[in-house]
Amino acid sequence: MPPIRGALRPTFSDISMEQKLNYLVTGGAGFIGSHLCEALLQQGHEVVALDDLSTGRYENIAGLESNPGFSLIVESDTRVETLDPLVRKADGVFHLASAVGVRLIIDKPVYTVRSMIRGVDAVLGHCARYRKPLLITSSSEVYGKSENVPFSEDDDRLMGPTTMRRWSYASAKAVGEFLALAYWHESRLPVVVARLFNVVGPRQTGQYGMVVPRFARQGLKGEPITVFGDGKQTRCFAHVKDTVGALAQLIEHPGAPGRVFNVGNDEEITILDLAEKVRSKTGNRSEIRMIPYSEAYVSGFEDMRRRVPDLSKLRALIEFKPQYDLDAILDDVIRHERAAMKGSGCGKSEGD
Ligand code: UDP
Repeated sequence: MPPIRGALRPTFSDISMEQKLNYLVTGGAGFIGSHLCEALLQQGHEVVALDDLSTGRYENIAGLESNPGFSLIVESDTRVETLDPLVRKADGVFHLASAVGVRLIIDKPVYTVRSMIRGVDAVLGHCARYRKPLLITSSSEVYGKSENVPFSEDDDRLMGPTTMRRWSYASAKAVGEFLALAYWHESRLPVVVARLFNVVGPRQTGQYGMVVPRFARQGLKGEPITVFGDGKQTRCFAHVKDTVGALAQLIEHPGAPGRVFNVGNDEEITILDLAEKVRSKTGNRSEIRMIPYSEAYVSGFEDMRRRVPDLSKLRALIEFKPQYDLDAILDDVIRHERAAMKGSGCGKSEGD
C-alpha cells in the first residue's frame, strides 16, 4: 500500500492552544505519569489517569485527587471495557504504562514482556479506532549495547541475546515503536514516539533498581553506596519535570506524528562520579562499595557502557531547554528522599 499523504483527522495544531483538552494518561500514577498529570492540569487541561497500581502508587497522585479536573481509574490498560470509552472521550492519549526497572525485568520476565506488548497493542488499537492523537513512551534501552554515542533516533541498535532477560525490555519497547509507526504508515494515526533517557526526580523509588534514588537513600543513611561493575559506565540524567514538559509539547506539535524523538539531558557522568557527588551532597559518611554485576543482578549480566542522547532532532522541533542540571537534579532528589525518610521515621528504604 502506498504511503497515505496528509493527516486524515485534525491534530492539535488545529485546536486553539487556549482550549481545555481531556487527556488520558496510562500509567498516570507512576513516577513519570504522575508528574505529567500534574503538568497537564497546570496547563488547564482535564486528566484521567489509568493505572493498575502495579508499579504506580496511589501516593503519587494523592495530591491531585482534590482537583476537579483530575480522576484516577484503577484498572489495567488492556481491559477493553475500560479502555474503549476512555479513549473515545479523550482528546489525546499518553501511553506511559509499562513494567519498569532492570530489577523487575530480571525478576519477572513473563509479566514484563506480556504486559508491555499487550498494553501498547491495546492502546494503539483503540486510538486507531477513534483516531486520537497519541504519544507512546519508549526507552533509550532500545539502542542496546551500541557505543556509538551520542545516539540518534535513526542509528542502528545493538541487542544482546534472547537468553539475557535484560534485553526483553528493549525488545518489547521496540515492538511498541514498530507498531506505532506501522499505524502511522498505514492509516496516519497521529502517534509520536518519545525515547526517554534516565528520567529521575522526586517520587522515583529505588525499588526497581534506579540508581539515583538508591544512592540518595544510601548516602543519607550513611550506608555503603553500591556501585555496580567498575563504575565507569556512564548515563545522562534528566529531571522528570523537564521530561514531561517535552512530552506535553510533543503530543501537540503538528510536526511530531509518525516520528521518534530522544527526550533527555546530554550531561554525561560515570556512575562512580555520580556516587561521589551524592556522597558529598549527603554528608560524606558512606563508603563507596564496588559490587560485581553478577552479584547485583545475575551472572552474565550485560550493562550499557555509555548512554548519551543526541537531542538535535527534538530541539529542532520544540522549545526544549532543561531547567535542571545534574546538581539541581541531585539536590531535588536528595531533598525529597530526606523528607520521605523523615515521614517514615527514617525506617527502611523502599529501595532496600
Ligand atoms: N547502578 C549502580 N548501583 C545501584 C543501581 C544501579 O551502580 O545501586 C548502575 C547500573 O548498573 C547502571 C546505572 O547505575 O549502570 C544506571 O542504572 P539504572 O537502573 O538507574 O538505569 P539503567 O540506565 O540501567 O536503565
